[in-house]
Amino acid sequence: MYSDRIKNAQRLLRAGANYRGAIDGDAGPQSLAAAWRVTGVEQLAIAGEWPAVRRVIAAAQLVLERAGHDPGRIDGFWGPSTDTAFAAWRGAALPVRGMDKAARFGPAGSAACTAGIVRVPWRMVLAWDDTQVITSFRCHELVAPSAQRAFDRIGAAHSLVQIRDLGLHLFGGCFNHRTMRGGSSLSTHAYGIAIDFDPARNRLRWGRDQARLAQQDAVRFWEIWEDEGWTSLGREKDFDWMHVQAVPV
Ligand SMILES: [Zn+2]
Repeated sequence: MYSDRIKNAQRLLRAGANYRGAIDGDAGPQSLAAAWRVTGVEQLAIAGEWPAVRRVIAAAQLVLERAGHDPGRIDGFWGPSTDTAFAAWRGAALPVRGMDKAARFGPAGSAACTAGIVRVPWRMVLAWDDTQVITSFRCHELVAPSAQRAFDRIGAAHSLVQIRDLGLHLFGGCFNHRTMRGGSSLSTHAYGIAIDFDPARNRLRWGRDQARLAQQDAVRFWEIWEDEGWTSLGREKDFDWMHVQAVPV
C-alpha cells in the first residue's frame, strides 16, 4: 500500500535523520524537514521540483544506501529494490505477522534459540542480583543481528544516566524454556526471541499508570525496537511493559 511505503520511509528517516514525528504514512512538514537533513537529497530533488512524497522516499533510499543496502536508483520511487533493501535493513530474519513461530525459528529450546550473541554497550546487571554483570547475552541466532542494532542505537541515543533512570541496565532475561505465565502455550522466551528489562518496576499486570517503561521518556527506547520490527506488549496491549519480542502479538 502507498501509505505503508511512506511509513517505512519515515522509519528510515527516524533512524537516519532524526525524524521525530508520527509513523503515519503522511509525507507532511516534519517528514519533509527530516528528508532535507539527509545530505545529497537536495541535488536529487533539483531545487525542490519533486513533490514531497518523492523527496521523502529519495531521502529514505539514501539512508538505506548509507547503511550498506542497495535500494536501486535513488529516484524517489519505492520499487522492488527499495523493498528488498528495506527488508534487509529492518532485519530480514524477522517473521511477518501470522507466521508460526516454530516454522520460522525451529523448535522451542533448540540450539538455534541460544546461538545468537548480543553484546551490551552499557553496564548491565542481572535484575535480581546486581553483583552479576551482563556484558552479553544469548538469544535466537536469527534475531541477534537485529537485537544488536537495537542495543547499539539505544546506547547511542541515551546517556548512562538515562539508561539507569529508565532501568535499561537491569536485565530481566531472554531465553527461558517455559510456557507463558498463566497459560499453556510456549512463551516467546522459549525461542530466545524476547527480552525483559527491569521486571520489578514493570510488573506483568501493571498498566501504563504504574509501569516505568510506559512513561514518556521511554518512547525513544521503544521506537528503536519498533524500527527493527520488534513489538512491545506494553505499547500494544498495556501489560508486561518489561518485555519486547521479535514477533508481532
Ligand atoms: Zn518477557
